[in-house]
Amino acid sequence: MAAARKLTQGTEEYVEAIWRVAESGEATIKDLARHLGVAPPSVTGMMKRLASMGLVKYSPYGKVSLSAKGRRLAAAVIRRHRLSERMLTDMLGLPWEKAHEEACRFEHLITGEVEERVAERLGEIDTCPHGHPIDISAADKSIPLTEAKPSSRARVAAVGDESPEVLQYLSKVGIVPGARLKVVGQEPVADGPMLLEVAGKPRALGRQTAEKIRIILESEAKAR
Ligand SMILES: [Zn+2]
Ligand SMILES: [Zn+2]
Repeated sequence: MAAARKLTQGTEEYVEAIWRVAESGEATIKDLARHLGVAPPSVTGMMKRLASMGLVKYSPYGKVSLSAKGRRLAAAVIRRHRLSERMLTDMLGLPWEKAHEEACRFEHLITGEVEERVAERLGEIDTCPHGHPIDISAADKSIPLTEAKPSSRARVAAVGDESPEVLQYLSKVGIVPGARLKVVGQEPVADGPMLLEVAGKPRALGRQTAEKIRIILESEAKAR
């Protein structure tokens, strides 16, 4: 029983990781290994197993993608993950930088009944605390912050970086889903930070972090 559960958890964790790394496209064994913090050969071994279960397609060149069955499993795991995050932050008051890691345990354990209770309690809320849709097939109109031109105004849709340090910083400066910001400009050097105005205060954000912040444009600067 414990072994079976462990196997299920491993399968779910891998399918979730492939979805997170590849979204709709392909992931490489190397990227997956990095994402999961394991050695590439263990990823390859697991891919063989997942392929025999009909969950993934993979090529000997190291490219992996989810099958339709794999995508359905990923959608179920991600839904449980994001509902668990909400349960942890909204109902138990856990800070959002801790929610992701904790939810990675809950997502394999919560039953359908608890899952539906949480969804019911959330009512209209249809994203995780980081702004990602609980239903992964929901339409996404957001763009990366780095694509916004200077003088654009936007609303933060989601923050993609789940590293606790980054999340802690973002909530400190008010870059959270729903917050409004203005793009002031960008330092004229390659990889220079993006200059923003958030709640009336100037803020600078490194490009790597800015790339992972999704926004909905409210007004775009006219192209010159
Ligand atoms: Zn997980
Ligand atoms: Zn989240």
